[in-house]
Amino acid sequence: MLDEKNLQKPLEEREDIIVVKDLNKWYGKLHVLKDVDVNVKQGEVVVILGPSGSGKSTFIRTINALEEFQKGEIIVDEINLSHDVSNIDAIRKETGMVFQQFNLFPHMTILKNITLAPIWVRKWKREKAEKVAMELLERVGIPEQAHKYPGQLSGGQQQRVAIARALAMQPRIMLFDEPTSALDPEMIKEVLDVMKTLAKSGMTMLVVTHEMNFAREVADRIILFDEGEIIEQGTPEELFDNPKHERTKLFLSQIL
Ligand code: ADP
Ligand code: MG
Repeated sequence: MLDEKNLQKPLEEREDIIVVKDLNKWYGKLHVLKDVDVNVKQGEVVVILGPSGSGKSTFIRTINALEEFQKGEIIVDEINLSHDVSNIDAIRKETGMVFQQFNLFPHMTILKNITLAPIWVRKWKREKAEKVAMELLERVGIPEQAHKYPGQLSGGQQQRVAIARALAMQPRIMLFDEPTSALDPEMIKEVLDVMKTLAKSGMTMLVVTHEMNFAREVADRIILFDEGEIIEQGTPEELFDNPKHERTKLFLSQIL
């Protein structure tokens, strides 16, 4: 496990918490990730941009061991995913994931949704799990919703529950795959605000999003994917104000 003291150092002096080397993945004949190399520092916030179908979801799902890969190496908090499938459970404990669709269990209360995995996977007592769940609901700003069911909440509230649920497992890394894409515009901000606070708390985050203001404001680094390859990466200033590659310029011209 990486040292918490690591977080007090400037970003460039910190240890890597994620190391991806020469990652290649195919779906049948379709080569979806091509020689991807990414290192992420502890506490770093990385935003992943790219056109639809460029491999963004596949990339972060592979880091969370939701997808297999055929070539290369992935090391998450010193756990090597490449060699041994028995590491999958360990990796899943390290990483929390938030999806576009909130994927809450509809027949369970908000509190049950959040305490389920800590009780079953972490073997916490119910009292402890509920205490932590309530603290997390405070943190995402909806403690009063604890005893309701997902269907009674707005989309923005449900996504905040999904974030709280992921945090309940005390992950060291949070992965977000277009967390605001399914939300009505007026609810996007409340979810992004929770993510911003989380980023400021020192959480390592990989975020696939089309929210360019969020990317500019919160990202330490932006990575642009196209056709399964990393085309360009850099700070928000480098990428938005001074893009080097034609494909980056083209992508930015289409979304900004
Ligand atoms: P993005 O998230 O950037 O939109 P994805 O990672 O979802 O892209 O997809 C990358 C490519 O892989 C696309 O061509 C997509 O159609 C294909 N793909 C994604 N999931 C599967 C799958 N389960 N089986 C086959 N092809 C897939
Ligand atoms: Mg996707």
